[in-house]
Amino acid sequence: MPAHDPNRPTSSGPSRRSVLTTAGLVAAGVALDTAVGAPSASAAAAPAIFYSPHQDDEAIGLAGSILEHKAAGRPVYLVLVSKGENGDLAAFMNQGNCQSLGGNCSAPGHYHKLGWQESWPTPEVVTGRTAEFNLSAKALGVDKVINFKLSDEAFGDYDNFVKKIMAKVRALAQQYPGASHKFAAGWLDKNPTHKACSDAAYWLMKNGELTDVRFNHIYAYQQYPNPADRGRGAAYVLNIPAAHMAKKRSSILAYNTWDPSRNLYTLGYHSVPVWLEQAHADPREFVYTLPSNYRTGPV
Ligand SMILES: [Zn+2]
Ligand SMILES: [Zn+2]
Repeated sequence: MPAHDPNRPTSSGPSRRSVLTTAGLVAAGVALDTAVGAPSASAAAAPAIFYSPHQDDEAIGLAGSILEHKAAGRPVYLVLVSKGENGDLAAFMNQGNCQSLGGNCSAPGHYHKLGWQESWPTPEVVTGRTAEFNLSAKALGVDKVINFKLSDEAFGDYDNFVKKIMAKVRALAQQYPGASHKFAAGWLDKNPTHKACSDAAYWLMKNGELTDVRFNHIYAYQQYPNPADRGRGAAYVLNIPAAHMAKKRSSILAYNTWDPSRNLYTLGYHSVPVWLEQAHADPREFVYTLPSNYRTGPV
């Protein structure tokens, strides 16, 4: 394990932390009447809070950044934003002879006829995906898992969904002054749920409620089959050290584990196998700042 330190960015780590401390004091002074009384708030290192729009996004495109922040001494909190309802996925799990993954899924005999509810809100899918998410979070060693439990209304009342995300993120920002906030780059991911997350971040930044914000292009692995095309325009391409990549691959494995006694049904691999494989093969993550021409609204 001595390989950690040589690979860690040496120049950006400490300066980033001092910037964060400054931002935290400003935020506390401006907005936080209720939290001022908490004696340890400014003494403890402020957390880096990562927002995974769905179960699996943290494994695909946030894991390396999570481990980078942990190695820099930051507490890392991992938020699951949506419940991850998904009727197509339920249908996959009900199909009997599994045709997913080229008929080669990890269920015994590649057979599963689970009788799951395919109509909204697909409770078994939500439970199963969340079990995989929690196992993934454990593999990454995050300090806290926070589940917003928001119904994924990105395809319905989009604006209301954004407002619900904003309210939850605002509460965390107030609870943890000086925290940095890491979202999906929804405008690049081109997925409505991801876009709702970056829209929420946009409005909160505009209000001055969030100051230190970054966005990972989580779907880069799927959108660009050629790895050389990934990371264009990124503020920062993270080269994930080997020891961290091993943990990221453990987190990806949580989505390809069949163990019904633990509610694990390989749902991630029935849902986005190529993306998980591409992320497994590419030891990089792609970090962006908000573009000046950012437009809110569903993609
Ligand atoms: Zn997603
Ligand atoms: Zn299957």
